[in-house]
Amino acid sequence: MQKFVPSANVEEAAYQALQQRGVTIEEIAKLTYFLQSKYIPDLTMEACIDSVHHVLQKREVQNAVLTGIELDLLAEKGLLSSPLQETIQTDESLYGVDEVLALSILNLYGSISFTNYGYIDKLKHGILEQLNDKSTGRVNTFLDDLVGAIAAAASSRLAHRHRAEAEQKME
Ligand code: MG
Repeated sequence: MQKFVPSANVEEAAYQALQQRGVTIEEIAKLTYFLQSKYIPDLTMEACIDSVHHVLQKREVQNAVLTGIELDLLAEKGLLSSPLQETIQTDESLYGVDEVLALSILNLYGSISFTNYGYIDKLKHGILEQLNDKSTGRVNTFLDDLVGAIAAAASSRLAHRHRAEAEQKME
């Protein structure tokens, strides 16, 4: 059996995949800011961008991004087998595996990330509205959930750090 050698380029590939699908780190960070600015009064966009980068450092997140975007791309090109092709291409509402993949990101950041994810998933705030526009011919069945999950995870990360800093000040 061939030995598996993890590629050092996984991180780079994940960043590239997002960029190629028209998703910038800034747009994800805007969702994070939207989610967390109510709770952290002095929150800056810079801190949100930094938090998104931290989330994207995790290999699990990179793998989820690459897997989901690859499936979107294959569906967009009509290269999947039936019935998965139709299911992903039409973003069939009961499919649910796109959300399950997003959970693999949220699992790393705890319950605040779950509630945040549910909240922006319902609202379709910011870039999520764009990604859900079905008139473009693009397939973003996985991408919208990945973006929502990364933003929610970055937001949860900021919430925990904010609390830790506040507690440190009280000591
Ligand atoms: Mg989806």
